[in-house]
Amino acid sequence: MAKKAAKKAKKVVTKSTKGKKKFVYFFGDGHADGTGKMKELLGGKGAGLAEMTNIGVPVPPGLTITTEVCTLFYANGKKTPAEVDAQMITYLGKLEESIGKKLGDAKDPLLVSVRSGAKFSMPGMMDTILNLGINDKSVMGIIKNTKNERFAYDSYRRFIQMYSDVVMDLPKVKFEHLIDARKEKKGIKLDIDFTAQDFKDMVEEFKSFYKKQLGSEFPQDPLVQLRGARDAVFKSWMNDRAIYYRKSYDIPDSIGTAVTVQSMVFGNMGNDSGTGVGFTRNPATGEKVFYGEYLLNAQGEDVVAGIRTPNPIANLGKDMPGCFKQLREVTTRLENHNRDIQDFEFTIERGKLYMLQTRSAKRTGLAAVRSAVEMVKEKLITIKEAVMRVDENQIDQLLHPVFDIKAEKKIIAKGLNASPGAATGKAVFTADEAVEWTERGEKVILVRQETSPDDIHGMDVAQGILTARGGATSHAAVVARQMGKVCVAGCEDIAVNAEKKTMTVRKNNIVIKEGDWISLDGTTGQVMLGKVPTVEPKLVGEFGTFMGWVDSFRTLKVRANADVPRDAETALGFGAEGIGLCRTEHMFFDGEKLPYMQEMILATNEEGRREALAKLLPMQKADFKGLFETMKGFAVTIRFLDPPLHEFLPKREDLMKAVTVMELKETNSTEDETIKKALLLVKKGETDLDKAKILLARVEDLHEFNPMLGHRGCRLGITYPEISEMQTRAVIETAIELNKTGKKIVPEIMIPLVGNVKELLNQKKIVDETAKKVMEEKGVKIPYMVGTMIEIPRAAITADEIAKEADFFSFGTNDLTQTALGFSRDDSGKFTKVYMDEKIFDKDPFQTLDQGGVGKLMAIAIKLGRSVKPKLKIGICGEHGGDPASIEFCHKAGLDYVSCSPYRVPIARLAAAKAALTYPRAKSNK
Ligand code: PEP
Ligand code: MG
Repeated sequence: MAKKAAKKAKKVVTKSTKGKKKFVYFFGDGHADGTGKMKELLGGKGAGLAEMTNIGVPVPPGLTITTEVCTLFYANGKKTPAEVDAQMITYLGKLEESIGKKLGDAKDPLLVSVRSGAKFSMPGMMDTILNLGINDKSVMGIIKNTKNERFAYDSYRRFIQMYSDVVMDLPKVKFEHLIDARKEKKGIKLDIDFTAQDFKDMVEEFKSFYKKQLGSEFPQDPLVQLRGARDAVFKSWMNDRAIYYRKSYDIPDSIGTAVTVQSMVFGNMGNDSGTGVGFTRNPATGEKVFYGEYLLNAQGEDVVAGIRTPNPIANLGKDMPGCFKQLREVTTRLENHNRDIQDFEFTIERGKLYMLQTRSAKRTGLAAVRSAVEMVKEKLITIKEAVMRVDENQIDQLLHPVFDIKAEKKIIAKGLNASPGAATGKAVFTADEAVEWTERGEKVILVRQETSPDDIHGMDVAQGILTARGGATSHAAVVARQMGKVCVAGCEDIAVNAEKKTMTVRKNNIVIKEGDWISLDGTTGQVMLGKVPTVEPKLVGEFGTFMGWVDSFRTLKVRANADVPRDAETALGFGAEGIGLCRTEHMFFDGEKLPYMQEMILATNEEGRREALAKLLPMQKADFKGLFETMKGFAVTIRFLDPPLHEFLPKREDLMKAVTVMELKETNSTEDETIKKALLLVKKGETDLDKAKILLARVEDLHEFNPMLGHRGCRLGITYPEISEMQTRAVIETAIELNKTGKKIVPEIMIPLVGNVKELLNQKKIVDETAKKVMEEKGVKIPYMVGTMIEIPRAAITADEIAKEADFFSFGTNDLTQTALGFSRDDSGKFTKVYMDEKIFDKDPFQTLDQGGVGKLMAIAIKLGRSVKPKLKIGICGEHGGDPASIEFCHKAGLDYVSCSPYRVPIARLAAAKAALTYPRAKSNK
């Protein structure tokens, strides 16, 4: 019988006894049933209060109007429906009865607070009203009962201020001016110096000010006050602050806020009263210490307002030992009951403790991991719960330096949060300057309109990179993530003038000049003025334990996108199980190889190209050797040359400018260092001017209207087979040499941008023939694989044909997104923000996989590919391979691995584990 009753109580009752829909709950009416339903209906605050009441924690009684009413309120022309109002009155009666006090009573009045509370906490975003129910009559009752006239009139004047501000839009500051004028007249500085008579006079003054400003008397009827406050809270759901907050944290507008009406308790009734806030564990570090602050003889708002400095909560043990002991007991009970760090508010009224709120505490990544691990050890939660509880983005915070939370920040612009972390440095506007300044011992932020591959040296030395143009997979973003550099990309709020060496914030014309300090928050996309102090994240011992648990659950393998041994080393340290993408072109951008690459491009025939490639071969081999050795036997996927060739040459516009300048100045030499270097490669021609003209003609030749859809990817290897030959030779020779030393290397060669199986066949033939030749020369046979990227829609929908010829697939979702959506990955930053504001997209499709479109193409490719080769190894190496939501999709779709930039490897491991726990499947061995 008792069991049955308990079961019944656990059900969420949404109908009132008369069969009508239930819109109002008395605290304790509803139980959390573990489904989160109660939180949805009553909001976090309402559900927390109900739950505390249920487990016998001292809570001042009250009622909650559900979140559903918020939706009805807006559907009803911003009015609360009559039926809800009637239920509220009924429950108010119940509240009055339970306390034995009435709202507005002249002898022993009830006072209430009216607060908001949505399913997700939105601290400070919506409105609150305290002391509701005071009027000219009830204030007399308060005086009589408290024998404290000063307290009564102080409460009354606070109520007038709050009500006017929140309900009537008569700003609080206007009353503050009246208070200041009074202080000046009396020659006092602080509120505590006001007498009872002062507050009494202030009440009269405030009431007549109200009448003068609004043309009506301050409402004396407590029900008018209550209805006004309730509706104001619903209205505050749609204030600019709240809308902005929801947008930033992906909280839907549709969930609405609940309104709680709770009987007031007073912490400002003398030195046996007080109020405070706290956490059951330190929310910054996760350490299990009781953490918080309190003030004696004060109301809640005094603690947060910063007028008086609150005391550390441990001191309460001396001030009020009994209450402190009870507070510790109650909050421990709450943490055990809710099985999570609690963030609580309490008030002590004349020596009696009341809890006003409890909820799961917001915490840093450090605290999230430490507390989860410790709670498992305390047997409070299971290992699975610990893994599910930590947010992937919180892990990210652990891996990069972070801004000191105590530091003051002046945010001047916002762009795409392309690569996380905190960076601070002096603004420089070219890659060369970045290098020069760094060599002088300066820390710099490289600010560019957009970056190109030849900025790589500057990016490498900069603390962070800021670009005005480009999306989440723009060059700057991809390279920065790979390097673990902080990057804010596509920051359209700024205009960059590289010539004048300035950056201007469009909206307010703040100009940042070369050498000015700026700070970038790559986690939020914020750009800040000045030098915001950073702190190194501490990788606590718990992190290893936690990641060990993570790995025990995941079925997806996690590889990294890395091109040089240093990045591979980082990736390995973060737990990568191989390299899923080595973009070989990144090797050619370094100072040593670039001239030979340019020589190859400038050659007018095959012979000339082969000559240059022969010089590149040993360097390319050294690069591969470094990678294979660093990866200690883990798989390495080498992707053949991919970008359009003009990327390796000076910009067409720069050459045009150099030619024009030389012609105008009637000189034969250019001052531009980059162009000078490139001119050395032009053998024909006498003067710089002649050479520049030849180079310009070649660049004109290579010029494409749409290079991303032009001469790139496997099209390069098909038109210039000698490039693929050289790359194959470099891979196979290196593998043979290393295998001789006892290493077992099975290289994976990957052909980019295939859309037709015949393209793959063409390249595979070159690879196979070259490999055979090399093996014959060396007298050794080694295994190797030839796979392809799936990054063109045609490849996805003909994946069965392609699979017959491919040893593996790897989804290049950057290009697949670009080609499936028809959005240029380098230009989409201009309009994706508007698309998101207009709700055409929920997320930037270059950051989070567009499952409805690109995801469908992937599903088709997987199905077709495995229909031919059931065990075909399939991975992803586009930027989405490091995005938690996309990783969940990849897990469900049956991929074998994801590959992402080194700094995202731990995030990917966690996301893969969470996906496996939510959607179990067999482990992959690939
Ligand atoms: C891709 O297109 O997803 C990819 C990994 O290749 P890249 O970004 O080098 O074009
Ligand atoms: Mg690609």
